[in-house]
Amino acid sequence: MPETNSIVDIRATIVRNRPVSRDVSIITLECPAIALAAKPGNFVNVKVSSATQPLLRRPFSIHDVSESEIELMVKSIGSGTALLSDAPEGSSVMVLGPLGNSFDISGTPFDTAILVSGGIGSAPMLFLEKTLAAKGKKVINLIGGRTKGDLLAESLGNCRFATDDGSEGLRGTVIDLLESELAELRKEGSLKVFACGPNPMLKALARFCRENSLPCDLSLESVMGCGIGICYGCSVEVMDPAGSIRTILLCREGPVINAELLVL
Ligand SMILES: Cc1cc2nc3c(=O)[nH]c(=O)nc-3n(C[C@H](O)[C@H](O)[C@H](O)COP(=O)(O)OP(=O)(O)OC[C@H]3O[C@@H](n4cnc5c(N)ncnc54)[C@H](O)[C@@H]3O)c2cc1C
Repeated sequence: MPETNSIVDIRATIVRNRPVSRDVSIITLECPAIALAAKPGNFVNVKVSSATQPLLRRPFSIHDVSESEIELMVKSIGSGTALLSDAPEGSSVMVLGPLGNSFDISGTPFDTAILVSGGIGSAPMLFLEKTLAAKGKKVINLIGGRTKGDLLAESLGNCRFATDDGSEGLRGTVIDLLESELAELRKEGSLKVFACGPNPMLKALARFCRENSLPCDLSLESVMGCGIGICYGCSVEVMDPAGSIRTILLCREGPVINAELLVL
């Protein structure tokens, strides 16, 4: 979790709103304090409208950071995300952040990072990729989606794809893709997997990584209210190494957890 004193709640101007697919837009917000403090994996909680509906803020991963701006990758799935996706450039929203913990890139050393994402799970990956590249790590993106139009490849490059219908890359899941590439990837030195996507995908990936002794960080999703540990809306069960189950609040102890902790 970022230092509490680095969390701010500020009105941020939407500098750019760039559609990247039929239902996904990249929203650029001018908010220097959050840009300065953010780490890959952090998220922000956005009040998408000054009206009373929707009342609660909506959480979004920090997709990218520049000197004074942050980018969000927003998929329109309901009232809040539709409002943000349609927000005109020059308008503003209240943004609370940076929130949550971050991907562990400085713990156990590794040579090559495998960034596995499904659908809108690509959102936190560009910031992570840039940070890893700046540290001299090799990065390979494995990106999955139902069909070609769902693939979100906003990255520095080195992307391999899987689609359910075979319209791009391997026909199958992104875990099938990792399995098919693993022997080659192991030639790139020690590996660490970083992943974000739908929870069923993350469960299958956690199982695969455990079976293949691959260290893995997962960024989980849940419905979330306050984003700061007050409402308990985002409690999820995790399993300690000793095997005991405990509950964490994803907004404070997550959204990133070690795959070993996921209850399968
Ligand atoms: C830590 C975190 C980071 C996230 N990062 C991103 C991101 O970078 N980009 C992005 O587009 N989305 C992200 N999400 C998901 C996003 O917050 C939700 O899609 C959004 O809150 C939905 O709001 P809405 O008003 O549009 O939908 P609502 O009108 O509230 O709901 C529409 C439908 O979506 C379902 N739903 C709502 N929230 C979620 C959820 N979190 N997961 C699955 N289904 C949900 C509802 O049950 C309902 O069926 C993130 C969520 C979390 C917890």
